[in-house]
This record gives sequence, structure tokens and C-alpha cells, in this order.
Amino acid sequence: MRLDRNIKEKVHDPYDDGRKYSEGTYCPQCLALYQGGRWKWPKQKDTSGEPFLCSACRRIRDRFPAGEVHVSGSYLNRHKDEIMNLIQNVVKEVEIRSPMKRVIDFTQDKQKLSVSLTDNHLARHIGDALYKAYNGELEVKYSEEEKFVRLYWRRDA
Ligand SMILES: [Zn+2]
Repeated sequence: MRLDRNIKEKVHDPYDDGRKYSEGTYCPQCLALYQGGRWKWPKQKDTSGEPFLCSACRRIRDRFPAGEVHVSGSYLNRHKDEIMNLIQNVVKEVEIRSPMKRVIDFTQDKQKLSVSLTDNHLARHIGDALYKAYNGELEVKYSEEEKFVRLYWRRDA
């Protein structure tokens, strides 16, 4: 049963890095380095291995997010800069540790601020940080099969 599910997930997620890269593979776009079974930021640039575009850079190129956070409500209008700073701080903090967790895009209109991300856990981090800082309402829509998460955070008043 479990095996079937894993196969299915791989079929549904072409960006899944379940595949093994050879040690020392590097991403020609962001220069992340594949070491010990995961992508890391190298201490110094190392392009001696095989080049391969990492999954985060592929998602950014294709604009194909694994997670989205949508922020709305009247509170946003009055605290836009503060909320933006909070989101960017979470992103920065996570990205330093995990090269595969990055922002694809920020979009803004009068009612809403949205951020699309290369990683579903990063979306959860942002949602949790917003809720912890400002309360409000947090709604999570999660699709396990596609490993995709969409979060809605809203606060009025
Ligand atoms: Zn990359």
C-alpha cells in the first residue's frame, strides 16, 4: 500500500527530488550543491561536479509553486509593510538553511497580497508566523497527492 502511494506521488510531482543526484552535482542557476543526499548552499562556489538545474530553480523557471500564501483583510492595508517584512524575514531565515525553499513571486493588489513558493513547508512557516504575530484567521487547503498547500490568512479590524 505504502509503495503504491509513493509511486503515485512521484508521478504527480515532477519536481520531487526523490531521485538521487550524484554527489557534488551543482545547480548552474543558484549554485546549490548536492551533498550527502540533499541540496545545500556551498561554503564556496563549487562547479566541479555535474550541472543540473535544482528543483527550486525549475519551479521558479516554470512558475509552478508547491505552496501559496494569500493575505487579505483590512488589517493588511494598515500594516502592509510590517506584514511584508515578516514574510520576507521568514523566507530569508528558511532559505539560508534550505536552498530548495524559496519565493517564486510576490503579487499585490488592493485587496490581497500573495506569495508563491517552491516549497509547501515554507508556506506553512509563513502562515504560522502570521498567525503567531497577528492572530486573525488561518485557513489551510492541502492536497496530499500533489504535495501542494494553499494558505489563506485574513484579519479584519
Ligand atoms: Zn538552483
